[in-house]
Amino acid sequence: MVILVNRIFSLLLPALRNAPRWGPILRLLVILGTRPEAIKLAPLILRLRRSPGLTLQICSTGQHRELALEPLRFFGIEPDFDLEVMQADQSLSDLSAKILTRLDPILRDGDFDRAIVQGDTTSATCGAIAAAHRAVPVAHVEAGLRSGSVASPWPEEMNRQLISRIADLHFAPTPGAAANLRAEGIPSKAIHVTGNTGIDALLAARSRLGNPALWLPRALGRKLILVTMHRRENLGRGLTELCWALRGLGAIGHQIVFPAHPSPTIQRQARSILAGAPGVRILEPQSYPRFVGLMALSDLIVTDSGGVQEEATALGKAALVVRDATERPEAIEAGAVHLVCAERHAIAAQVKRLLATPPPLTPADTFGDGRASKRILRVLMQEAQTNLAKVA
Ligand code: UDP
Repeated sequence: MVILVNRIFSLLLPALRNAPRWGPILRLLVILGTRPEAIKLAPLILRLRRSPGLTLQICSTGQHRELALEPLRFFGIEPDFDLEVMQADQSLSDLSAKILTRLDPILRDGDFDRAIVQGDTTSATCGAIAAAHRAVPVAHVEAGLRSGSVASPWPEEMNRQLISRIADLHFAPTPGAAANLRAEGIPSKAIHVTGNTGIDALLAARSRLGNPALWLPRALGRKLILVTMHRRENLGRGLTELCWALRGLGAIGHQIVFPAHPSPTIQRQARSILAGAPGVRILEPQSYPRFVGLMALSDLIVTDSGGVQEEATALGKAALVVRDATERPEAIEAGAVHLVCAERHAIAAQVKRLLATPPPLTPADTFGDGRASKRILRVLMQEAQTNLAKVA
């Protein structure tokens, strides 16, 4: 069907190009700002770019400038606009104000038919609000995730709910996420269950991976634990508890690698407890393919990340998630994710338990089968077709 629609467009396009009144059928603006948005939108961007009848511009807010540019470059993507909003220790309100005011002229002058945002960040939320201020319809990729508490993850749960109130097209990764949206009164015809585009990215990165064991020598007979922690609600006490647990686990012979987020607070806190700790290596943030390699190599992942829960499930890896709740209950049902409170003895005990008796896991398509972008494109092409019918 998609092939057929594409074919029709390629036949019609030369005629449309000669008609100045018409131009492209669907002009899209993709707005992103952080590493997970860049990773999860990259496969969709690549697919949209190849589709006749669509034009696409990419706006990076720069919320996490280098962290977002790295995976974009890995996939061969350069943003058209960079809002350069990053500034150390700025408040969420300062960040939001900058994104809104710098995005507005782009939306005003761009004549876009639709904006696309992903996930739950301040960039995604302000992107959706700025688009709505210019009456540009918003599509939300990774819609419908709910933890049930606006306090956790904060402010992401609030962001997701706000975007759901604005968007008119909701791409839900799972049937559960779609059910959450319907329960909030969003009409079924506006919701499409597509899988998560993050799994498209993961499968693409994995197929281009060399042998990660070449750049991370495994210590023989030792278990490898991969760690990330960056959520706002875990900074301070949560991170301190995790670091003390890691010290103890390194001391009993486990090999721990911790690519620490570049936030000065996280770096300072992690290094003050872990510098010189036996068995523990704090690394720079890893490039996306290297991080995928580390996940593939690890015996256990300890994290508070959202996306890593999906990736662990897809790779068949166990993940201990240092949080009270998750907006991805499917990962728990799949047996990959186990929650633990941010307390050093509880973390250490759960790590030892999961290493001693690893859950029987195999790679699962709970969050996607690698074809989410293709499904999203199909929906957008239908919209383009409707636009074409209007101008014809
Ligand atoms: N990631 C990465 N390098 C790292 C750590 C994580 O490329 O050093 C990737 C990881 O594979 C996942 C994404 O970053 O796709 C997760 O981002 P993050 O944990 O910052 O955000 P969240 O998923 O919690 O929104």
